[in-house]
Amino acid sequence: MEELVADVVVIGAGPAGQKAAIQAAKLGKKVIVIEKLVDPGGSCLFSGTIPSKTIREAIIDLTRFNERSFADVSVQVSEVTVPSLGHRLNKVIEEERTIIARQFKKNNIRMINGTARFENAKILLVVDNNDKLLYQIKSKAFMIATGSRPRNPTNVPFDDEVILDSTRLLKVTKVPKTAIVLGGGIIGSEYASFFAPLGTEVTVIDKKDHILPMLDAEIGIHLQTALTDIGLTFMGNKEPEIIERHGDKAYVKFKDGTSLEADVLLYALGRMANIEDLQLENTGIAANDKGYVPVNDLFQTVVPTIYAVGDVIGGPCLASTSMEQGRLASLHACGVETHRFPAVFPVGIYTIPEISCCGYTEEELRALGYHYEVGRAYYYEIARSHMVGSNTGMFKILFHAETLEILGVHIVGRSATELIHIGQVAMSFRARINYFIDQVFNYPTFAEGYRIAALNGFNKIKIRNNIV
Ligand SMILES: Cc1cc2nc3c(=O)[nH]c(=O)nc-3n(C[C@H](O)[C@H](O)[C@H](O)COP(=O)(O)OP(=O)(O)OC[C@H]3O[C@@H](n4cnc5c(N)ncnc54)[C@H](O)[C@@H]3O)c2cc1C
Repeated sequence: MEELVADVVVIGAGPAGQKAAIQAAKLGKKVIVIEKLVDPGGSCLFSGTIPSKTIREAIIDLTRFNERSFADVSVQVSEVTVPSLGHRLNKVIEEERTIIARQFKKNNIRMINGTARFENAKILLVVDNNDKLLYQIKSKAFMIATGSRPRNPTNVPFDDEVILDSTRLLKVTKVPKTAIVLGGGIIGSEYASFFAPLGTEVTVIDKKDHILPMLDAEIGIHLQTALTDIGLTFMGNKEPEIIERHGDKAYVKFKDGTSLEADVLLYALGRMANIEDLQLENTGIAANDKGYVPVNDLFQTVVPTIYAVGDVIGGPCLASTSMEQGRLASLHACGVETHRFPAVFPVGIYTIPEISCCGYTEEELRALGYHYEVGRAYYYEIARSHMVGSNTGMFKILFHAETLEILGVHIVGRSATELIHIGQVAMSFRARINYFIDQVFNYPTFAEGYRIAALNGFNKIKIRNNIV
């Protein structure tokens, strides 16, 4: 066993841990990262964001999905195989892995392989897979960035072929003909929409009556219609009672007495924080009732020198937000004054078509009693959409009916996850809706949707107020 001393010890090398480590190293601190897996990257690189988004791009390209609206395109979906998707996935993972390793090296960050657990609030132990003690580390600050994993009940017989979670799904060897997706949240909806262009008959099941209930309802309906158009079936108000493997099929019996069978079942009913190994009880930190580590708005736990960032603290559980939480926590731990985590940030959902939103939904504005107006633009009104064969989608901008300040931007359609940043920046500067009208935008672009939606909304105000 070796004894080490550091300024900052980061537990977990996912997006939150990476950014925390790099920030502290940039401030000249001695940083050690402890990671259970051989390579840094976290679930983000090996089973979450990067694999799912790479597979999505590969499916869109290989099935020529965006060209389907042109009559002269015939698509041979059968040519899209798991190895053809895997080829691209392995290449992207390798490139990302190299970049992270290079960043650690460049910033003089030492990564130790092993599982971290607290001896007390000032000392961390690192053990190997056989529980052999490797290191004892004292540090001025600790960052818990251990992430999350699928919440898998013990009565569901998971395997790597038929009954799957989002990690196991990456091991399937052939494109299924039929699939059941349990859970209409982000992960379930994304994967369900990836299967559909491959010709898989997909059924999404949720106990709610529509998918992605956190979305602005109009955007959610628009998405659900688009998903139905590409062949996806949604069944709401349904809960599984029994999940079994019957031969080479997945079988689900629902509480309402009905049942379904398919080649694969994706169980996507939530995730849970990775805290079991940490022995937090030795520090005085207790998980909250959802199993996440509670923190204040500076990401400090009840022990001020122990911070927690990323999925381990609970929502929004995104790589994007985890990175910024890591960076901010690290600045604070190193004595640098920071701003708080931004109130306005985008959420991207990479269904096909994709969605992105920033700020209030219409339902929230109504509940809060805002006097608001709505501007809408549809992708079929945008010249660029016709050129690239992506006519499905809409922009929805919510703004204050008197001050005209933009309160929410919601986009469903091609490039929504990129386009949202225009709305995000405008909202960060508290811009008014007429900002989009008074500026010149490149033409033809999808971004033109902002101008069309702004004009649509602003005209309603003018008509109501009799302004010419
Ligand atoms: C299918 C899927 C798709 C997603 N898509 C997106 C997306 O499109 N956009 C987006 O922003 N987010 C997306 N996410 C969410 C994103 O992946 C997570 O929010 C992000 O990975 C969280 O980062 P993290 O650093 O907190 O944890 P992780 O990435 O989970 O990394 C935690 C690391 O800690 C290590 N660890 C755990 N316990 C210990 C221990 N005791 N000792 C040492 N090491 C330990 C783990 O091995 C792991 O490497 C997706 C997630 C999934 C599952």
